[in-house]
Amino acid sequence: DKPSYKWRRVLLKVSGEALAGDRSQNIDPKITMAIAREVASVTRLGIEVAIVVGGGNIFRGSSWAGSSGLDRSSADYIGMLATVMNALFLQATMESIGIPTRVQTAFRMSEVAEPYIRRRAVRHLEKGRVVIFAAGTGNPFFTTDTAAALRCAEINAEVVLKATNVDGVYDDDPRRNPNAQLHDTLTYHEVTSKDISVMDMTAITLCQENNIPVVVFNLTKSGNISKAIKGERVGTLIGG
Ligand code: UDP
Repeated sequence: DKPSYKWRRVLLKVSGEALAGDRSQNIDPKITMAIAREVASVTRLGIEVAIVVGGGNIFRGSSWAGSSGLDRSSADYIGMLATVMNALFLQATMESIGIPTRVQTAFRMSEVAEPYIRRRAVRHLEKGRVVIFAAGTGNPFFTTDTAAALRCAEINAEVVLKATNVDGVYDDDPRRNPNAQLHDTLTYHEVTSKDISVMDMTAITLCQENNIPVVVFNLTKSGNISKAIKGERVGTLIGG
């Protein structure tokens, strides 16, 4: 008998910051390799994994908009291109250890990746391929967290697993307050009403409206990604 796991299909969100680790370079290959290995271990169990990558390690539109006459939309398109770089790096890493992986971009870049086609993405997942969604939602003024919530809903994944550099959501900043407590669970309402900055409001309300639970967890701890994907207790669970 095959063991059954909590989730059948998951959406893993990897921020750009998480990919950078503590290196001064934009991407730490040790981190992409760790992600690849852990994802490989769960796809072997039959769990389907889609990934949305961020781009904040390379370019964040909001922090550039305004400077040098850059309007927000142009800055955001540059930010979306940054996510494509991360996606291609992650794909190459995954394929180097034998995981079949497809990148789909929210706007066309046909020479380097497939365009986003929902049914095709689902088909890839059913065949056991990992699908990396790049270029966010394809629209300026959004974030890759919102892209994660959106793609999760579109492909009928059951959970957004948000990989970060911290253990989950605390009641205070753990870097400043050593007594800060980690929340095991939070409701969507607690997140939005207390203005907890775990995801932007657009992303969290999209999850809420579609009853998509969100798990916030630390990807730098070895084994955490596969635990999160298998549905084991890790980090903070946001839901109902
Ligand atoms: N972005 C965008 N629309 C989207 C997703 C991302 O315009 O749907 C741009 C935006 O400029 C953002 C950048 O891409 O700052 C990188 O994405 P994000 O900041 O979400 O990455 P992360 O924080 O996860 O590294």
